[in-house]
Amino acid sequence: MEFVGDEGNRKAVAREPRARFTALAALFLLAAPACRSLEITPAALRAPGGRTGERAAALARWEEALALINEFLASDYRRTLPPGRFELTPDGMRFRSAAGRSWPIGVHSTGWGDLVVATGFRAQEARDGFCVGAIERNPEETLDGQLDQTFFRARDGEWQDSFSLAEVTLHETTHVVYRAGTIGPWNTIGYYAVAVATLSAANHPAEDRPHATSEEFAWFAAARSSEPEYRRVIEGVRDEHLAVAHEHCAHGPFPEPR
Ligand SMILES: [Zn+2]
Ligand SMILES: [Zn+2]
Repeated sequence: MEFVGDEGNRKAVAREPRARFTALAALFLLAAPACRSLEITPAALRAPGGRTGERAAALARWEEALALINEFLASDYRRTLPPGRFELTPDGMRFRSAAGRSWPIGVHSTGWGDLVVATGFRAQEARDGFCVGAIERNPEETLDGQLDQTFFRARDGEWQDSFSLAEVTLHETTHVVYRAGTIGPWNTIGYYAVAVATLSAANHPAEDRPHATSEEFAWFAAARSSEPEYRRVIEGVRDEHLAVAHEHCAHGPFPEPR
């Protein structure tokens, strides 16, 4: 899961929506068959229809995000994901590890994603990528399902920048690669069993590796836009953090799953 907001609300403010999420999720599972599923792809964004200019801008940001992701993966900020590269084809994203495994990282805007978004999340991992939800409708915009979802936009309609697209992609990919979180039906039930027991997903053990990737990308992004002297400070903070174990993140390297 990708939390919206800063570290402070992971623990406090977000606690209540997560308890609500668990209850709503149980209800939703009963009604799930009737839901929307729209895959967000470069091919669909280039197809006729929708808000053409905004689609081109969104696709350009997505391509920029891919470049950032690959720069991060090639850097020594990456510790938790295995070495590898992302590609973006007309059909969507794929992560290929240097060891030769590959995972599709599809982006699906779904009815389930709407629930995820309504309860304070941005995205939720799945076996073949992640789902996102619709944003709040703006009556002055014609609806464009390819654009009006929480991969490209915040819930209030603000556009996400390429760093944000990269971060959520890397976070959810860490879930997919290590099969941590709601990957597969049994894991989904397991995830909620723990969420119910703790009344919170904020400190869920399935988030430890994805959270580690999010931190690593945050250091990378901060260092990338800093002068060399500040970059050294950021690297110092990172090295100090990595030198000891923490309760809610688990940094690699880990053996690549088979
Ligand atoms: Zn997560
Ligand atoms: Zn950490």
